[in-house]
Amino acid sequence: MAEVIDGKSVAEDVVRTVKTLTAELVAKGKAKPGLAVVIVGEDPASQVYVASKSRTAKECGFHSVQHTLPAETSEPALLKIIGDLNADPAINGILVQLPLPAHIDAGKIIQTIAPEKDVDGFHFINVGKLGTGELETAFVPCTPAGSMLLIERVRGKDLSGLNAVVVGRSNIVGKPMANLLLAANCTVTIAHSRTRDLPALARTADILVAAVGRPEMIRGDWVKPGATVIDVGINRIPAPEKGEGKSRLVGDVAYAEAAKAAGAITPVPGGVGPMTIAMLMANTLASAYLAAGLKRPSF
Ligand code: NAP
Repeated sequence: MAEVIDGKSVAEDVVRTVKTLTAELVAKGKAKPGLAVVIVGEDPASQVYVASKSRTAKECGFHSVQHTLPAETSEPALLKIIGDLNADPAINGILVQLPLPAHIDAGKIIQTIAPEKDVDGFHFINVGKLGTGELETAFVPCTPAGSMLLIERVRGKDLSGLNAVVVGRSNIVGKPMANLLLAANCTVTIAHSRTRDLPALARTADILVAAVGRPEMIRGDWVKPGATVIDVGINRIPAPEKGEGKSRLVGDVAYAEAAKAAGAITPVPGGVGPMTIAMLMANTLASAYLAAGLKRPSF
């Protein structure tokens, strides 16, 4: 059976390190890292995420600010808030929780965030830095950055000679994940909905990353024996066995089957999920270090 990669414990390690390095920064007489989280509207899932981000920021010792805005907030009003946060020296990271209401152009909002405060890593400048291997100053999107840390725990930092297959080509997960694997010297293939014979392609992967959003699509016989399997998917499916109307979370990988072939695998929940918030803290800390003229810590 595969080694189970404990994302919860790695995420706790990251948060602990961020907390220590924050205290060191403050001890040097520098300002504590500041994170501003902006949420527009009442989407319940977004509210849970935002509360969790603000809580973890406080736990890290950050200056934590939350802007909770009504769904009818206008685009110019939101742009004004972003502009003010860009200009505020106490703020190192700005996160606008997505999705935004339909009347607001999310792309425009993201590109308005100052690249050096774009701790989500979605600004074109940060996308370009990752794409060109400028990793010293790039902010990498939190979910792939966290997934990479989990891979490194199993395989080390240099992945030379390994084949990686990333299933999914979103800007938030698939593409940045592929770039990170490439930067670590993997031979990378990106698969998507138009890929031919995905099971055969997946079987070539020493590192298989699933970021699809389809419950348990990747079966056990798609997994090369000994492969490292990273399941980014979070899918809620009905679970009548738990009672009427109940549900449970599953990944994009059929875990029980895949765990028989894999060398190491992330569970859902408790794998990649907890890493996302931890890496948001790591990115905000890195932004504060860079703003203070210090070398950013590596994780
Ligand atoms: P997305 O934007 O919907 O992208 C899904 C990708 O999967 C697309 O590139 C799509 O291909 C591909 N795909 C769809 N059906 C496929 C099929 N049958 N065969 C092969 N490829 C297929 O999703 P995302 O934002 O990247 O998220 C992916 C999953 O990760 C979701 O379950 C999401 O909930 C989860 N997620 C988790 C975290 C976290 O852990 N914190 C963060 C972000 C996302 P095309 O491009 O051809 O359409």
